Amino acid sequence: MNHVQAAPGLASARRLVVKIGSALLACETTGEIRRDWLAALTDDVIACKKRGQDVVLVSSGAVAIGRLRLGLPAGPLRLEEKQAAASTGMIRLAHAYQESLAEHGVTVAQVLLTLDDSEDRGRYINARNTLSTLLRLGAVPLINENDTVATDEIRFGDNDRLAARVAAMISADTLVLLSDIDGLYTSDPHTDPDARFLAEVRAITPEIEAMAGNARSMVGSGGMATKLAAARVALAAGCRMAIAHGEAPHPLRRIEAGERCTWFVPDESPQAARKQWIAGTLKPAGILTVDDGAVAALGRGQEPAACGCGRHRGRVQSWRSGGCPDQRRPHPRSRPHLLSSADARRIIGHKTSEIETCLGYRGRDEMIHRDDLALNPESKR
Ligand code: GLU
Repeated sequence: MNHVQAAPGLASARRLVVKIGSALLACETTGEIRRDWLAALTDDVIACKKRGQDVVLVSSGAVAIGRLRLGLPAGPLRLEEKQAAASTGMIRLAHAYQESLAEHGVTVAQVLLTLDDSEDRGRYINARNTLSTLLRLGAVPLINENDTVATDEIRFGDNDRLAARVAAMISADTLVLLSDIDGLYTSDPHTDPDARFLAEVRAITPEIEAMAGNARSMVGSGGMATKLAAARVALAAGCRMAIAHGEAPHPLRRIEAGERCTWFVPDESPQAARKQWIAGTLKPAGILTVDDGAVAALGRGQEPAACGCGRHRGRVQSWRSGGCPDQRRPHPRSRPHLLSSADARRIIGHKTSEIETCLGYRGRDEMIHRDDLALNPESKR
């Protein structure tokens, strides 16, 4: 298998998700935001953006910042207290990021997500579309868990896994978990002087899992176990992931300069992983037939427009080409964007310019976006 190279530094990233732990951003005793640290992180983010990289921030800290404002005591909080703390802390957190990035003329967009949003197909696609649009418009999405509505059953509970889900959702190629530890060790380095540092991990084996333990820092909620859970999600999505120490200023610049951190390296790119997922895991729920013109367009790397689609059966959640001469060849698979069967029926056979009239709203130009289409599942194209 061709492993994706773990290029040292971040310069090769195209789309970067950075997770910031509570302990880095919020003072444990006062709940105050570390403005200088944030300003230095902002400089790093701006440097990435200047190189043309997309940056998404997943930041913890709402509970840590908000709890003292509400006079909540130190120590573990009940779920409803955490939710209350997060709702007051999140305003301050978002405001701090917004002020800091605004100094460089960059807009921040707050996005609050729950586990449901990454598991329900409709919500997943909406979140993916919103994030992609924000990135295209040059904004920096600032993501946190929507603690107010996240009950125990639908909580991520830690932003390590949330960040990995987000990275998978937007086909990011690099995820950095900024933490209070510089990476993965063979055992807990705080208690074991023989603990050995691992610079690179290529698979989450039972041995690797056994190394994680469950050390928790005082302020944040994740331990090494949640970081490995995040790594598993990231690797499956073709996204490389780093666990890096974030405490000193300019954490991204330091990773780029080669400061030590643990890199988790996937087998394949996010695009190939996504296409494999589309090709391999979907049980077809319907069939969409396309004409020869559309087959030719697909061959040229274009998307099937409605006018090239003849008819459909079942729910339009998957389709196969009517023009495919060799029935032994695997059928293309896809995940159409949010297009109901009723809407598909309305626009099939119509020109792109007629879609708005057919639907009563401005839909998309293509039936299926290229990113959501696995033309030849076996070659992962
Ligand atoms: N959503 C929580 C907060 O912002 C943090 C979860 C975590 O620390 O991972 O405070």
